[in-house]
Amino acid sequence: MTDLIALMADLEEYLGDPWDAGALMPYPRILAADEDQRYPHEFVDVLASWGLYDWIVPAANGGKAVNVEDGFNLYRLVGRRDPTSATAMVLTSLSYMPVWIAGSPEQRQHFADAIRGGRKLAWGLSERRHGSDVLANETTARRTDGGWLLNGEKWTIGNATVACTVMVHARTSDKGGPGGYSIFAVEKDCVPPGQLAHLPDEPLHGLRGLDMSGVRLTDCFVPDSALVGRAGQGLEIALKSSQLARIAIASIAMACVDTALRSTLDFAGRRVIFGGTVAEVPYSRRQLAESFAELLIADALTTGAVRSLQLAPAQASVWSSVVKYFVPTLLEETLARLTTVLGARYYLRAHPRHGIFQKVLRDFAISNFADGNTVVNLKNIALQLDGLLASAVGQDPGEVARARAAVADLFDPARPMPPYEPAAQQLFSRAGDDSVLALRSAVGELRRAAETAGGRDAAWLAGCADTAGQLADEVHRLADEHAKLFADQGRAAGQSAELYDLAKQYSAVSAAAACVHLHLHGRDSLTPALRSPAVLLLCLERLLRRFHPTRRVTGPDDIDTVAGVLAEAHREGWLFSFRPYRVGW
Ligand SMILES: Cc1cc2nc3c(=O)[nH]c(=O)nc-3n(C[C@H](O)[C@H](O)[C@H](O)COP(=O)(O)OP(=O)(O)OC[C@H]3O[C@@H](n4cnc5c(N)ncnc54)[C@H](O)[C@@H]3O)c2cc1C
Repeated sequence: MTDLIALMADLEEYLGDPWDAGALMPYPRILAADEDQRYPHEFVDVLASWGLYDWIVPAANGGKAVNVEDGFNLYRLVGRRDPTSATAMVLTSLSYMPVWIAGSPEQRQHFADAIRGGRKLAWGLSERRHGSDVLANETTARRTDGGWLLNGEKWTIGNATVACTVMVHARTSDKGGPGGYSIFAVEKDCVPPGQLAHLPDEPLHGLRGLDMSGVRLTDCFVPDSALVGRAGQGLEIALKSSQLARIAIASIAMACVDTALRSTLDFAGRRVIFGGTVAEVPYSRRQLAESFAELLIADALTTGAVRSLQLAPAQASVWSSVVKYFVPTLLEETLARLTTVLGARYYLRAHPRHGIFQKVLRDFAISNFADGNTVVNLKNIALQLDGLLASAVGQDPGEVARARAAVADLFDPARPMPPYEPAAQQLFSRAGDDSVLALRSAVGELRRAAETAGGRDAAWLAGCADTAGQLADEVHRLADEHAKLFADQGRAAGQSAELYDLAKQYSAVSAAAACVHLHLHGRDSLTPALRSPAVLLLCLERLLRRFHPTRRVTGPDDIDTVAGVLAEAHREGWLFSFRPYRVGW
């Protein structure tokens, strides 16, 4: 098992102080590249030299990727400096997934070597006219002697121009449908002249330096060896690849908010107004503590989600969509709150200390729409709600016992896992959702912990048990509303706005379950100050208020405690995470 704490410290130390213009990856140069809309070659090369790509290439093919959590957390360190560099590199990793899932041994090795040699890959799924409706995509691949002829256009594709290879999703059956698409690794070096053209670069709102273009394929010949997996397997491979990507993109969202919170804390601690610092103003202090709690909610949820890819691949469909919907949605609100604490300075692009805020604010938005937008993921949860709610409400004793054992593995970062095997992921979670299923019993554990704890911990734990219990009760209401919706609307309920709304609420319960499970099972791996039940209580309050906006379970003393934990984490140089990852700033 990787010593992730040491690995993270090594990368952070290698990259140097982000405020030192002479370091390898400092904010002044990152902001300059963004202003110039320059592809971050210099930073990608620096990261590749350290060996970052090794963590996305399977160990069997010369890389070091065994546990997804290693790469996930390393990208948090990159993203908190420059989300553009992180995205550029994540795109290469996503584009490798099809060969990892279904490629031949030769393809796996060939592209592993290419990536480790510094070559970039692109993920060519989207088309201008179709977006999320991927089964309407028009790019075709037709058999010819010794290979295939590809025709069509892929747009907007990150890395499309700088990449050596584009993984092109093309229709291989005239009638289309789920079995009508295939994936081809189009290696530009091997394409005869005139058959592949790059589309113009699209200037972006955020990630300004990213290569955002596309390719036009005109009778583009690729050999049989370019087909990844079987003909007709394209959709299945794309969806399995997306399950990893949907979780991975949360690392960039969390990284953006880490930087925004850090920048705001610097301001709030120094800025004196009306005779005191902004951080001393009770309202601002609560806003900072709540923002910290929301980042920790995302941290807890992704801890389980990332580990689920190895421990519960049959449940990957639910985990990945809950993360992809909930983390960007929650953290977008966090960012909005932080802008009100930082005030007018958040709007200044050239501010020497806070200019980075406006960049991460813009860059963050990629997490909303890339790799299946928010709505696509809500739909995926909505379609599975029936079974998920039935098992969570039913609380079958045998199933609950199994789920409890499962969450102990999922949320204890010290427990070893089997190596990542992406082909094992399922597209539909017939196996349910162990995390939400085990929430009710975890509430009982919190209550028992409250009875044996002393001092303030006892009151905090009792508050956590009450709050988590109220969130667990929401599952029953959701099940009732779900049943009523289908009784009232029949089949039309499956496409109704109300069903999507229930999926949103289910995601919030799932986030609450993750916070509780991490507190109960991951304690020994957490930063000591973050084991405090005061932290858990504020996380749960943030989630309860999504259902009951006026309910409050924390008071000024609780907020002071969490604000103290936050201040210490910032002062001592910890990533804003439950786990003790060192950062320079
Ligand atoms: C910066 C950037 C990078 C990108 N990188 C890549 C890349 O590398 N490779 C790639 O293939 N693509 C890439 N894309 C395309 C991206 O994945 C798009 O999200 C995708 O094309 C879908 O488009 P859309 O989100 O605008 O939504 P559309 O599919 O055009 O839908 C429009 C709207 O309809 C609604 N909607 C969509 N689906 C549903 C549904 N199922 N139910 C209900 N409502 C729905 C939503 O409100 C949505 O916003 C990138 C795009 C950008 C901007």
